[in-house]
Amino acid sequence: RKRVVSGVQPTGMVHLGNYIGAIKNWVALQDLYETFFFIVDLHAITLPYDAPELSKATRSTAAIYLACGIDSSKASIFVQSHVRAHIELMWLLSSSTPIGWLNKMIQFKEKSRKAGNENVGVALLTYPVLMASDILLYQSDLVPVGEDQTQHLELTREISERVNNLYGGRKWKKLGGRGGSLFKVPEALIPPAGARVMSLTDGLSKMSKSAPSDLSRINLLDPKDVIVNKIKRCKTDSLPGLEFDNPERPECKNLLSVYQIITGKMKEEVVSECQDMNWGTFKATLTDALIDHLQPIQVRYEEIMSDPGYLDSVLLDGAGKASEIADATLNNVYQAMGFLRR
Ligand code: ATP
Ligand code: MG
Repeated sequence: RKRVVSGVQPTGMVHLGNYIGAIKNWVALQDLYETFFFIVDLHAITLPYDAPELSKATRSTAAIYLACGIDSSKASIFVQSHVRAHIELMWLLSSSTPIGWLNKMIQFKEKSRKAGNENVGVALLTYPVLMASDILLYQSDLVPVGEDQTQHLELTREISERVNNLYGGRKWKKLGGRGGSLFKVPEALIPPAGARVMSLTDGLSKMSKSAPSDLSRINLLDPKDVIVNKIKRCKTDSLPGLEFDNPERPECKNLLSVYQIITGKMKEEVVSECQDMNWGTFKATLTDALIDHLQPIQVRYEEIMSDPGYLDSVLLDGAGKASEIADATLNNVYQAMGFLRR
């Protein structure tokens, strides 16, 4: 079976963008592929963060995976830092990653600009190398991510090809290895609809955990009244009716797309249902749909959080399964790069 890996950072709250762009799609994938879904805690420290909150957010994110329908009997669910191979392989890969490749990353440029350039930690720049390690360790075929990650995934492919060329094949065989490729070159799996959920307060920037205003996103755990308020206050426009494809109306497109995805309707259905609505009516309809969709997830989340022993056992089991595969890849890379083995 093909292998699939993906993860979400335990920074702040998991929001509708993470859900629609990533987690929701994982649920279907776990039946088709061998899946590894992790909480990428090592990525969460690339910007200033609150240390006492990190472990809580990590548990909470794991519970959200389960509440959204990720099933630990089908998928391996684990915490990135519990599998040491992620950091080790990252170092090995960094030696083959030109700084120029990293300097081109849009996310680095955006996040470092927002954080005030000079004070940004080196890890924000090298983040995509850790992401490459996350993916390559598992010999992944497919990586389901939101559209914001396409550039990082392309970089992962470039790094894997470069390392395969530098150290794989006959050179590896000479060192006693199996020969052939060290890594599978992975493909991105971008969801067709809603690949990019936009901010509620600005239809041109993506919904993001790291955006300062909580009003810009719907968090999966937002209570009813908060959802009502956020949708009430979200940005709209003053044109009549509602439409998907008018480039002048990014907010309109975004909210209709969100509505379409969480109701599971076809685009045409949504068009005929909503095209003549005014914003007030549509906002009420969207609010109800969001609450209906999120409420069962929230109920399951509370159940899971009330049983910490269960969550611990899921994460322990997941880390065990992941480590086996990750360690095998890591050992091959050490061997191919010429290290003296213990
Ligand atoms: P940050 O702002 O801290 O980077 P984030 O909101 O981008 O946080 P991540 O943990 O970096 O969240 O991303 C987890 C997954 O969610 C990735 O697969 C990413 O592509 C996807 N994702 C994030 N934001 C969106 C969005 N607005 N629309 C669709 N997918 C998204
Ligand atoms: Mg992100």
